[in-house]
Parts: sequence; structure tokens; C-alpha cells
Amino acid sequence: MPDAVRIALVFPSLLGTYGDGGNASVLAQRLRWRGVEAETVDVAVDDALPEQADVYVLGGGEDTAQTLAVSRLADGVLARAADAGKPVFAVCAGFQILGETFLDGAGAVHAGVGLIDCRTDRLPGSRAVGELLGEPAVDGVVELLTGYENHGGRTLLGPAAKPLARVRSGTGNGDGVDGAVQGSVVATYLHGPALARNPALADWLLSKVVGDLAPLDDSEEQELRRERLTALRRARAAWWRRQWRPPARGT
Ligand code: GLN
Repeated sequence: MPDAVRIALVFPSLLGTYGDGGNASVLAQRLRWRGVEAETVDVAVDDALPEQADVYVLGGGEDTAQTLAVSRLADGVLARAADAGKPVFAVCAGFQILGETFLDGAGAVHAGVGLIDCRTDRLPGSRAVGELLGEPAVDGVVELLTGYENHGGRTLLGPAAKPLARVRSGTGNGDGVDGAVQGSVVATYLHGPALARNPALADWLLSKVVGDLAPLDDSEEQELRRERLTALRRARAAWWRRQWRPPARGT
């Protein structure tokens, strides 16, 4: 185990639109609560990615920003980190740019970093905006995965990538699953930040660096989860009531 776990937040100025930088803070804080030293490093877009980090975190961003971000990731640092089994956690735009290809705002195809066997095009119909709920599809995470999504991209996985979750509510990748797991690279469409709303997912990532972790008192996080799951249940019930409203009299 490293003396201090170093968590690199990749290009927050480009991939920080949705508050996903909180994922790096959550990882660091959950280690500190257990007496493990942790530090986060914000990697500026003009800086090289540090080779010595133990975990790399990428967030969501806008189409133009993600095209710029991918051009700055061609130095192989992330690929070497993934080869070495270091966790790389990527959300939405971060997920899309780690794939084989994605589209920019004008619909042109761009090559991604190629760490995930997936391709991103456009969702048919409108942008996916709202709560996203998934049943984890990986060993070691049993709690439902909750967050919100806001994207126009649809991501189809190839055989080397496995889904992170099966979608119970919302859109996710666009074909019934959310996210991807390929070796130590883990990706999702969940914002929230995802790791604040899903402490089990945070600990699952951390356990890849520091091994088994002692449990924490997650009562506040559980309260947040309950509130979000209840809000989603209510919104869905209201939606069904609207669909089943009887026709007005005289029609
Ligand atoms: N621009 C991408 C899309 O809309 C990613 C959005 C995001 O990161 N939330 O699909």
C-alpha cells in the first residue's frame, strides 16, 4: 500500500461542469476517515498527467471541452496506469473519451483514448436528463447505484467491456445498461457526484488500491440515498398517474 494515496483529478477546468470533482474528494476523505493518508492533485490542462498517481478521476463536460481533453491524453499515462491495474474512474464525457470513438457537437467522429471497448454516438430522441438508477453488475457492489444523468451521447459496449450496472430507471448508456468496467477502468453516466451518492462504489474502487477496508458510519450518505430513491419513486408514480388519467367527461 502506498504511504499516501495520490488521487489525480484530470483536467477539472474541462471536465468539471457537473461537479464530478467531488469524486476525488470523496475518495480522499474516505481514506482519511480510516487513518490512511491521501492527497488529491488537480491536473491543469497544460500539465502532463502525473505518472505517480494511484487513482485517476475524470468528470463530465461539454462537447468542445471533451474534444480538447482527449487531445491532451495522448501521452500514454492513463494507458500505463490502466495496464498497472490502477483505478481510472470516468464519468459521462470522461467515459466517452476513454472509448474508441465519440462525436463532437457538430457530429464529427473523434478517436478516443481507447481504454474502453465502446463507441459513442447520439441517443435517438431527446437528451437524457434526470435521475438514473442502476442495479450493479459487478461483484463486490451490492447497493443500487444512484445519481443523475445529463447527456446526449449513447455508448455501445464491445465485448471487452462489461456494464457497470443494469438500468432500473433512466437511460444510462442507452441500451439498458450503464457504464463500463474493463480491467481497472470503471466508467458511468452517473453524476451526483457518483461516489458521494454511492459510498459502496467508492470503497470498491479504493479497495483496488489499499485492499480490504474497515466499514465507516455512512448514515448521512444512507439518508441522502433514501431521500433520492424516494424522490425518484414519487416522480415515477406521478408519471404513471398522468398516463392513466381517465378521459374527460363528454369526450
Ligand atoms: N457532452 C456529452 C454528452 O452530452 C457529455 C455530457 C456530460 O458529460 N454530462 O453526451
